[in-house]
Amino acid sequence: MGLIDLRSDTVTKPTEEMRQAMYKAEVGDDVYRDDPTVNRLEELVAREMGKEAALFVASGTMANQVAVMTHTQRGDEIILGEKSHIYINEVGGIAYLAGVQTALVTEIDGVMDAGAVEGKIRSENIHFPETSLICVENTHNKAGGRVIPLEAMKSIHDVGLRHGVPVHLDGARIYNAAAYLGVEAKEIARYCDTVNVCLSKGLCAPVGSVLAGSSEFVERARKYRKMLGGGMRQAGIIAAAGIIAVEKMSKRLSKDHENAFALANGLNSLEGVSVDIDKVQTNLIMVDFAGTGLNGVQVAERLKANRILINGSSESVVRFAVHYYIGEDEIQRTIQMVSRVIKE
Ligand SMILES: *Cc1c(COP(=O)(O)O)cnc(C)c1O
Repeated sequence: MGLIDLRSDTVTKPTEEMRQAMYKAEVGDDVYRDDPTVNRLEELVAREMGKEAALFVASGTMANQVAVMTHTQRGDEIILGEKSHIYINEVGGIAYLAGVQTALVTEIDGVMDAGAVEGKIRSENIHFPETSLICVENTHNKAGGRVIPLEAMKSIHDVGLRHGVPVHLDGARIYNAAAYLGVEAKEIARYCDTVNVCLSKGLCAPVGSVLAGSSEFVERARKYRKMLGGGMRQAGIIAAAGIIAVEKMSKRLSKDHENAFALANGLNSLEGVSVDIDKVQTNLIMVDFAGTGLNGVQVAERLKANRILINGSSESVVRFAVHYYIGEDEIQRTIQMVSRVIKE
């Protein structure tokens, strides 16, 4: 029996087609902008997001950090969700690299209320920092892959427009949001000034994210990328996989969502295990084992002994991530195995 890895959608290895494209990729020195494959990927993502330009970077974290550095001055304040990846999971980079402080908004199912965002915008006062950026996350990771509705995106963008504050979208999984909403990604990205798109999650590319925005923004961002050591050379080798990620893999995410829904239903039917089915929208599901008397670490250990991997913490709620390599067989085996191990 093969390993079933539900820890994250980042565990997806490149597909055979990606490996072929990487082998054959035309390359050049991207710091001189000589890499035709990187240029092609950047143009492709800019077009997909409805932006003028884009920049290929090493990771989603780098895309977000470069975005914050480019949008802000040291000592500024940025508004973002208290459960956002940029706030929780980026090693304090916004403080260390960009030198900004945060005004946090509590999300409800991943969504920040536009009025609450507006309430955090600083007025002119000699004692206050400048508010220079609003960050939104769609889909929202910590909320369990929840999609931010277009109206909510628009309301926050309108707040930004009214106050002259740009909006950055952490769209690590924007294609999952687009698949759920049944719209093109640019219909979401139109409500932000800049957007981070991850290629190495559910889209299966081995490395990389793309930061899209205006030409002027991307020119300045390019310099911060270089500062962080992200000026890569023959990066077309990895960008080649990114092109397939965008052109092809982004189109099949509904399948992952169906599989996630099946997994959620199967697990929810087990005694002591509960999933709030109404909240399952994309490829991430939050499973609560409280009724089994086990915590996440205990469940993870028992599953690991049966070749199924999840990231369990000391809490009872565990995130299961469905992706390209989790098909119907893997879903069924996971449900059966969870059913067995919680009775051990
Ligand atoms: C994974 C993730 C990132 C960061 O991407 P890395 O490539 O792991 O640095 C940023 N934002 C969200 C919402 C993510 O899920």
